[in-house]
Amino acid sequence: MRNQIQRGLRRITPPELLRRQGRTFAALGAVVLLTLGLFVGRGIVRPDLGEAAALNAAAEDGNSQPAARPTGAGGLYAGIPDLPPYRWRANPGGAVSKRAEIRTTIPQRPEVGIVKYLVQQGDTLFGIAEEFELKAETLLWGNYAILQDNPHSLRPGQELNVLPVDGTYYEWNQGDQLDAVAAFFGVSAQDIIDWLGNNLPPDIDPANPGIEPGTGLIIPGGRREFVTWSAPRITRANPAVANVAGPGACGSVSDGPIGEGSFIWPTTATNLSGTPFTSYHPGIDIAGSLGNAIYASASGVVVYAGWNNYGYGEMVVIDHGDGWQTLYAHMNDVDVACGQAVFQGNVIGGVGSTGNSTGPHLHFEMQHDVYGKVNPSGFVSP
Ligand SMILES: [Zn+2]
Repeated sequence: MRNQIQRGLRRITPPELLRRQGRTFAALGAVVLLTLGLFVGRGIVRPDLGEAAALNAAAEDGNSQPAARPTGAGGLYAGIPDLPPYRWRANPGGAVSKRAEIRTTIPQRPEVGIVKYLVQQGDTLFGIAEEFELKAETLLWGNYAILQDNPHSLRPGQELNVLPVDGTYYEWNQGDQLDAVAAFFGVSAQDIIDWLGNNLPPDIDPANPGIEPGTGLIIPGGRREFVTWSAPRITRANPAVANVAGPGACGSVSDGPIGEGSFIWPTTATNLSGTPFTSYHPGIDIAGSLGNAIYASASGVVVYAGWNNYGYGEMVVIDHGDGWQTLYAHMNDVDVACGQAVFQGNVIGGVGSTGNSTGPHLHFEMQHDVYGKVNPSGFVSP
């Protein structure tokens, strides 16, 4: 990893950075606004700030606690492609061409400004964040234009902004007020003024700061909600809610078995891969081999069976009738059909790599009508 970081890291001084990044910042801001607008326009409910805070808190404390919140009313299965687990490479550098300005010292976070990191084959968002001693959220917040808040959007060759501190990143717009920008990210204007890398005069007027539009600001300690798709709850009462998610949606489903209230590990494979459960990756990835059996984790009725348009590939959702649903994604083959009754332990298909996936694994989610999407590791073990 260190070799990769060294190869990928290029230091860019703040003025140079601003020149290089001005357009990126503008695009980033525009994309955020456009995306929010699109979501609202499509009737997809954004979580309110309270929910976002709860999600963020859950993401930080290990995620074993169900978040006591209702699930979003709208949305689709997110386009969450999966990356393979992080691997050390015996011979790094073969797959991705080297760039100019290669750093040759132990990688360090920049002290006040921003460095660029060139993503290497085998990198994961969490691995990169760990190397720089930053939270993975900071990498997402610093690179919305590239990653769209999705850890599985990471691809070799991308140039990521590495912030000097955990926080967010903001491109100044004409008419912005520093207090309002600070409040949006949950910090004070003084926090932004005091950050040396922002090159703001200490006596700046927060109401009329005279910051050049397009200027990128580091918001130390800043946070914002994630702009991610939220899966709808698909139950036996409303399977058609998933019609927009893809051709695997079921029209209507008659009643079926009720779950046991307990769940079993959903496949023969036992190893978790590199992407943990977070608010922006609401499931676990179980590394497996092509065709490993996938089991119904509890009894219920199939309410989605087939292709998902949002990165999950071949997918099954089972409604357990007791407030719980389980979801199985990237399947190689689907052996059940809409409306089919399944019992705990029945084979419903095989492990695959369909959709946005770079290797055979099972993406497994558990959702409850009160707790929302919970970390399956708190409920099942191999
Ligand atoms: Zn996954």
